[in-house]
Amino acid sequence: MEIPELPASLPPREKALRVHERLCAVYGCPIPFFHDLDPLSELISALLSHRTRNADSGRAFRQLRARFPTWEAVRDAPLLEVQEAVASVTWPEQKAPRLQAVLREISARRGGDMALDFLGELEVPQARAWLESLPGVGPKTSAAVLLFSRLRRPALPVDSHHYRVAVRLGLISARVPVGRSHALLSALLPPGWDAQQVYDHHEALMLHGQRCCFHLAPACVRCPVLDLCPWGQQRVARGKPG
Ligand code: SF4
Repeated sequence: MEIPELPASLPPREKALRVHERLCAVYGCPIPFFHDLDPLSELISALLSHRTRNADSGRAFRQLRARFPTWEAVRDAPLLEVQEAVASVTWPEQKAPRLQAVLREISARRGGDMALDFLGELEVPQARAWLESLPGVGPKTSAAVLLFSRLRRPALPVDSHHYRVAVRLGLISARVPVGRSHALLSALLPPGWDAQQVYDHHEALMLHGQRCCFHLAPACVRCPVLDLCPWGQQRVARGKPG
């Protein structure tokens, strides 16, 4: 298919939509959700995954499930037992006490009820604020809990691949830190988008970062959004096509 050339300086909202359409065509939207966990399990999974390979955090999650019958049992277990169960993640000595602190905080707030399904009845900003007031929970984790869990709420997570692609495309300034980028990149999406559309957007940008817009040597000459990308165009003009 012939792609018409567009100016790299399009307004960010319009550019975000063009990028979405192009990358969705390449990566095959709608993209199937990879999890169907309850929101508390998704929160545990997200806390384990920080700076850890998916295979290792998945193993730690399964170990926790196999060793403790409930999340209440994880909350009340001796710290060393939890630390042993999550030994495959990076920094288990920090993540185990953090996990227990989060579980205790949820119990305290909810009168012992650990389920987080009530978040599905709140507006997305309120649900995110509730989650982000837990210890160690930032915007990426709050969005992951709402979007990836069976709640399926339209909250946009931004991982390192998604962030890199967004900066290079000029959707946000490189001076915006990844935490604050969540609000700015979310604001570029149409307010009526459902969870599948928001998920597709996140996944398409993340996959693009993994498969084309590499950290060190992005493959700009074969990139389907080169005409929208000032950073890629400068790179190609300097004779560094990837
Ligand atoms: S043109 Fe290059 S820098 Fe821009 S999004 Fe594509 S691969 Fe990344």
